[in-house]
Amino acid sequence: MSNSSQIAPKVGFVSLGCPKALVDSEQILTQLRAEGYETAKSYDGADLVIVNTCGFIDAAVQESLDAIGEALHENGKVIVTGCLGAKKDAAGDDIIMKVHPKVLAVTGPHALAEVMDAVHIHLPKPHAPFLDLVPAQGVKLTPKHYAYLKISEGCNHRCSFCIIPSMRGDLVSRPVADVMLEAENLFKAGVKELLVISQDTSAYGVDVKFRTGFWNGKPIKTHMTQLVTALSELAAQYGAWVRLHYVYPYPHVDQIIPLMAEGAVLPYLDVPLQHAHPDVLKRMKRPASGEKNIERILAWRAMCPNITIRSTFIAGFPGETEEEFQYLLDFIKEAEIDRLGCFSYSPVEGATANLLANPVPEEIREERRGRLMQLQESISKKRLQAKVGKTIRVLIDEVTSNGGVGRSAADAPEIDGVVYVKPPYEPHKKLNVGEFFDVTVTAADAHDLWAEA
Ligand code: SF4
Repeated sequence: MSNSSQIAPKVGFVSLGCPKALVDSEQILTQLRAEGYETAKSYDGADLVIVNTCGFIDAAVQESLDAIGEALHENGKVIVTGCLGAKKDAAGDDIIMKVHPKVLAVTGPHALAEVMDAVHIHLPKPHAPFLDLVPAQGVKLTPKHYAYLKISEGCNHRCSFCIIPSMRGDLVSRPVADVMLEAENLFKAGVKELLVISQDTSAYGVDVKFRTGFWNGKPIKTHMTQLVTALSELAAQYGAWVRLHYVYPYPHVDQIIPLMAEGAVLPYLDVPLQHAHPDVLKRMKRPASGEKNIERILAWRAMCPNITIRSTFIAGFPGETEEEFQYLLDFIKEAEIDRLGCFSYSPVEGATANLLANPVPEEIREERRGRLMQLQESISKKRLQAKVGKTIRVLIDEVTSNGGVGRSAADAPEIDGVVYVKPPYEPHKKLNVGEFFDVTVTAADAHDLWAEA
């Protein structure tokens, strides 16, 4: 059969889990496309299905197991990858193989080569693929105007509630030149907002002792501050935004704040604090738990008054007393955390925190979560109300018959609020997806803003 008349094998893809898993999915899809495979839109149009799973909390495990079951039922040929693939049950057996023994292969997360090996065995690759059909920026699962940039994999910490290190291993930083090249390809392809992600962005380069790499003929260290500076310069050339996620409050983070104040990087810091009381942080074995976080946040706000602070917290961690929880509420009130996610403690299988004394009963965990979210709602309402009358820049994500839905510097996609934009009065001006508009805020609630273009 000649190459041109050959029908490309088709692979179906189900991607579950967090942005880090999404990046793994994008890399697998890019490689599949590079090798000449096509992606199928339905189970029955696929020759094989890959399911990228999440294994973080019990609900995610069930969702992943259900998705594998559905793919097996609808298609039959299934390869599983992702966090759940690395998870064992109490007896040390592979969870997926126990529930779904018919899957063809199982790998853990970040296992591009192993996934491709399994694909090659069960669905041989077509001959002589047209490599140049792959766009240089790879295949993205996010809309064209924003993209996640994963700078490292794994984590050197051992937080007692978390099993990610046992699934993903220790920190492995990507070479700084590779990260910069990927960023450049994304900007060239039209990406207007780059979201920097990892398990611990502040620790970038620790594993390679901040090795010096080269970018554009100049030396650059594998270090968070140098990477962020270089990314901000690159983004400026393309008129794009850079947003930082998962930043632990190590002292060198202070050096990033002036870049935010001058607008080189979005004034948005996603700092997952999880708690405020020193004893709880110690039991959690949190990184940077000795830092004086309230002083740091107040200093950041003084340096960059329009900074948005996002954080996540756990209510009802084992041993948490009412006083410790009240301490957390006082901290949140004083720090005025802009964007906040709160989980009640979930005893993830395999987490050492489950062995701690005095677990908090479920109804108290839930009740504390409710109180925390109520407090947050009032803080968020007040802070968003202060934006009414101000002019802010938004990136349009969606155009509707009533105008558009965009996001400002204060809103990361999927997790924060949005800005509903009324269409411009001038008929020749149009809202377009992936374009920036300066808008005037007219109203606010506890989550979102309304504005006129
Ligand atoms: S910093 Fe802690 S919570 Fe985050 S991935 Fe590492 S061990 Fe898990």
